[in-house]
Amino acid sequence: MGGAGSGRVRCSGSKAETGDYRCLDIRMLRRDGAFEGEGAGKVRWRRRGVCRGEVAYLSGTESLTLGYTYRRAGAPLEDIVQHIRVEWSECYLGGKRPWFLCPEDGCGKRVAKLYGARVFLCRQCLGLTYASQREGETDRAVRRAERLREQLGWHTGILTGDGGKPKGMHFTTFFRLRQEQEYYRQKALVGLAEKMKFLPDH
Ligand SMILES: [Zn+2]
Repeated sequence: MGGAGSGRVRCSGSKAETGDYRCLDIRMLRRDGAFEGEGAGKVRWRRRGVCRGEVAYLSGTESLTLGYTYRRAGAPLEDIVQHIRVEWSECYLGGKRPWFLCPEDGCGKRVAKLYGARVFLCRQCLGLTYASQREGETDRAVRRAERLREQLGWHTGILTGDGGKPKGMHFTTFFRLRQEQEYYRQKALVGLAEKMKFLPDH
């Protein structure tokens, strides 16, 4: 064992959508001594001086194994071990540089950066995971709004205007249902707008 020590790896220039995710940059790992034979080290992420995550790694010349604990609010801690393949390419001016192969099934894309949600993925795979998660939330908001519109006796369709108070319904009930409907309608509209905007660029 030798090579890499413990280092702090930061990524600059990450876009807004990836800003909340931990980023592994292969060039920084290499600067830290990884991939020169077998080595071990740690990557830590900090935000305003506070540690936001830590991953231990073992590197070989063509592999990187990550070990870390994943924390999701309200869920038990999960120990994760992830294997990532590393490939080398010749540089134009001589020398070689390493690349991660995205570990997601069916992807395998050559990338310099991987982003950590539960596991580390390329930017495009992360975008798809993020989009499908948001899509689920948006669909639920649409269904909630539609159910409330039904209770209010309004026309279906969150883009249709509001109706009035149904005959015989108490005002307090009406105001509450109307307010709830507006809340889910807004949530759904924001989700739909985001879906149209969210296109990972590579
Ligand atoms: Zn990928």
